[in-house]
Amino acid sequence: MMPLTKRFSDLPLSSSLIQNLGSLGYHEMTDIQAASIPVMLEQKDLIAQAKTGSGKTAAFGIGILSKLNPSYFATQALIICPTRELADQVSNELRRLARATPNIKILTLCGGTAMRPQIASLEHGAHILVGTPGRLLDHIGRKSVNLSTVQTLVLDEADRMVDMGFYEDIVGIVAACSPRRQTLLFSATYPSDMRMATASFLRDPIEIRVESQH
Ligand code: ADP
Ligand code: MG
Repeated sequence: MMPLTKRFSDLPLSSSLIQNLGSLGYHEMTDIQAASIPVMLEQKDLIAQAKTGSGKTAAFGIGILSKLNPSYFATQALIICPTRELADQVSNELRRLARATPNIKILTLCGGTAMRPQIASLEHGAHILVGTPGRLLDHIGRKSVNLSTVQTLVLDEADRMVDMGFYEDIVGIVAACSPRRQTLLFSATYPSDMRMATASFLRDPIEIRVESQH
């Protein structure tokens, strides 16, 4: 077997992205990054299972940024998170990762924030949306988001979202996304009932499971 690529600089990523990763202190990939990023770069669907703190955000963040077109001003990626806190964390990490790519707009759509300013921000458009299920579904219902241009859909902390009862909301959000998208499911666990529940979201997914913390 070929050894796994371990350094970001060994990946076919833009030099500006690799340089920015270096400026964040990211040189070596974590195990889940080394296993999942090459799969994402091949545009395959993915089920990635790894513990909390193993660097899953940067894994899918790099997957998204590697194919994002900044001059195409439409929503190209959507990340669904279980809570507002997690959505804010993901947005912050994506902004750090995107620093080297000018003019990438990332919007966070969560409950607990007034609807009207969110709709106003959406009218200006965004390349990447990060949100919680209820609020995303609310925007879909009001037609204040257009997800038909989404090329990468991420279900982050999918096990928690199912535990929190968001499954039906997620079904509604997935249905609003382009059927030609790449779908990435990141989770700390992947029990068999979740396997059944999420099968229709993914197309021939590659499954990766990493036990280690780093
Ligand atoms: P997870 O989503 O798996 O719980 P996070 O994406 O929140 O993990 O990452 C955990 C921490 O690891 C963050 O502080 C992040 O900045 C850091 N991190 C991620 N990837 C790397 C890397 N390749 N090198 C160094 N630190 C990293
Ligand atoms: Mg995470």
